[in-house]
Amino acid sequence: MRRLAINKRRSLVNDITICVGLSSANNYVSMLTREQLSVLRSIRPSLLYEFLQEVAKVRSDKRMRRALPNECAFCKNNGENEECYSSHALKDWRGRVLCPVLRAFRCPRCGATGDRAHTIKYCPENADTGKSR
Ligand SMILES: [Zn+2]
Ligand SMILES: [Zn+2]
Repeated sequence: MRRLAINKRRSLVNDITICVGLSSANNYVSMLTREQLSVLRSIRPSLLYEFLQEVAKVRSDKRMRRALPNECAFCKNNGENEECYSSHALKDWRGRVLCPVLRAFRCPRCGATGDRAHTIKYCPENADTGKSR
């Protein structure tokens, strides 16, 4: 049973090697979770490369996350002091709202709050009505 799993893992490395070369193939496989590996086994090798590019992109996003300025433009615009707006970021790298003030706000137009909270000025519904009129 255990040996079978290792064999599967080896053949997966071979598949990826075809796409990206040996050294990066080993890197890629070592950073995948078991769930990701089982997904990889079930997809065609031609899709592997695309998938791996996605993985690489997520990794570089994580690197960028550290580079994001850790201050909240929303609180800054609200005239809060520096201690307040520099204590948190407005959004995380995925675009989810982190600011506690904005998270508690509910958009009067579409009712969005929490992760997707925004002021009425930034409401996506605005763009929709603009198109239909
Ligand atoms: Zn804030
Ligand atoms: Zn809205």
